[in-house]
Amino acid sequence: MPPTHEVFNQPPALTGYDLADDQGMLSALRREGAGWAEESVRELGRLAGSARVQELGRQANENPPKLRTHDRFGNRVDEVEFHPAWHELMTVAVRYGLHAAPWRDSRPGAHVARAAGFYVWGAAEAGHCCPVSMTYAIVPALRHAPGLAGRFEPLLAAPEYDFGLRPPLTKRGLLAGMSMTEKQGGSDVRANTTRADPVPGDGEAGANAYRLSGHKWFTSAPMGDLFMVLAQAPAGLSCFLLPRVRPDGTRNGMHLQRLKDKLGNRSNASAEVEYDGALAWLVGEEGRGVRTIVEMVNVTRLDCVLGTATGMRAGLTMAAHHAAHRTAFGRRLADQPLMAAVLADLAIESEATTLAAFRLAGATDRAARGDGQEAAFRRLALAATKYWVCKRAPAHAAEALECLGGNGYVEESGMPRLYREAPLASIWEGSGNVAALDALRALTRQPESAEAFFAELDQAAGADSRLDQAVARLRKELGDPSEARARQLAEAMALVLQGALLVRYGDPAVADAFAASRLADDGGPGTWGRAFGMLPSGIDTAAIVSRATPHLGG
Ligand SMILES: Cc1cc2nc3c(=O)[nH]c(=O)nc-3n(C[C@H](O)[C@H](O)[C@H](O)COP(=O)(O)OP(=O)(O)OC[C@H]3O[C@@H](n4cnc5c(N)ncnc54)[C@H](O)[C@@H]3O)c2cc1C
Repeated sequence: MPPTHEVFNQPPALTGYDLADDQGMLSALRREGAGWAEESVRELGRLAGSARVQELGRQANENPPKLRTHDRFGNRVDEVEFHPAWHELMTVAVRYGLHAAPWRDSRPGAHVARAAGFYVWGAAEAGHCCPVSMTYAIVPALRHAPGLAGRFEPLLAAPEYDFGLRPPLTKRGLLAGMSMTEKQGGSDVRANTTRADPVPGDGEAGANAYRLSGHKWFTSAPMGDLFMVLAQAPAGLSCFLLPRVRPDGTRNGMHLQRLKDKLGNRSNASAEVEYDGALAWLVGEEGRGVRTIVEMVNVTRLDCVLGTATGMRAGLTMAAHHAAHRTAFGRRLADQPLMAAVLADLAIESEATTLAAFRLAGATDRAARGDGQEAAFRRLALAATKYWVCKRAPAHAAEALECLGGNGYVEESGMPRLYREAPLASIWEGSGNVAALDALRALTRQPESAEAFFAELDQAAGADSRLDQAVARLRKELGDPSEARARQLAEAMALVLQGALLVRYGDPAVADAFAASRLADDGGPGTWGRAFGMLPSGIDTAAIVSRATPHLGG
């Protein structure tokens, strides 16, 4: 090798480590009642950190799905073809129960265990988490049609990935999707024009049958088996379960027109769909479709928060790893005070997001077991947290990318994929404004939610004066809950919740830095907020960064 090709001052490949070696996540897992799942989460973490799985993630994204609308004879096929890497990733996700499995698991903490698996495994590849998430989310909505739930839930929860076009009840496991958004309105689903005409007969498990005609502008994971669809029935907008293949084995009238050419999330398929007299069964009451499907949306929102926590942790890990091994100006990057401040700030954001995500997963678990207080807490806390952490994701990813310098801008570093994925969670399941307005709605119209939220904050009262003052400021701000201020209020609510969790359960250095940077009301130039890395002096950045630096060979 000529001497010009000698490679030095480049970090070792970040492979062969345990992605679940994450102290903030592991203690949250135990605290929220799923310590029993630690070994399985660790196993998944080691798998996700392996060179082999990282390669699967690359392949799945560099070989995006292809739509086959017709076969060679001109018959409609409407199938999506995936690279084998996608199928392997899906097989693992389903085998570890990251889809609907917790709904059939009576162990307290089952949803938290699943959240930890989702958080860890999502770092391997984000796109395939979409069908996994929708399959998780469909169950609470489907239970509005108990007969259909009784029939399909066991298959939605089965640990078997069984790809292909066959009648649902003949498969070993099922995947689900959600079909709401139309060209003329996504947030405003009441603008839907897809029609649902009742048809006598063809009912399934006690649910009435309809024929759906219309289009959907976005339907992700169209290779799924069952879809929750909104359509206008005689009594108004209603929710339907639509199988891709009819029970008699014939293809349903669900035609895939195109796949979207997306910014990121490229391993996954998102389609434009035409429904042409497609058979579907009513879920919930006619005319109450939004109320029914919101149950699905609320669960996917949890995954938006978890997925964002995953992305932040992945970016932070790559940045901390690079800085631990790269030298500039005679010192490791991690030892340069300004780089340490940037990394610490990224770590604080990541850890605060992880804590909030797991608190919400715990609330989901307890709410699913009938805890009304936790359901009320989750209602407001999830909307506000979804708004804020998803908003932070693109800035976090960009800053983490920059820590790698030019290497971060190059595809094979993995950073561009992370960066392209980052804005998506904020658009999905209630774009920024819609999520903030939803938080405001919960705050003003559901007093039990506001009470539960403040009761949570009260538990941290007295632990940190900066937090106490931020909570007092928030209470004052709530005197003007006008729509135009929804972002301000949602951000403030999310920040005090993160602060309260960190003060109670977080690493002391992280909690202190969070309060000093995000909660203290110092004002004036140089205060935190305009870019990462503007922490006040006196923060133990080395301690914070060391928590985020991966240990290879673990
Ligand atoms: C990759 C991808 C996959 C998707 N997969 C699916 C899927 O599987 N199923 C599905 O049904 N949909 C899916 N969607 C669609 C997605 O849910 C919608 O794009 C989203 O809900 C926003 O709707 P819209 O695009 O119609 O934008 P609009 O509703 O037109 O919103 C545009 C902007 O206006 C803001 N806005 C809306 N209302 C208000 C208001 N009252 N006040 C202030 N601001 C407001 C929004 O926050 C947004 O910023 C997907 C989208 C993407 C990008």
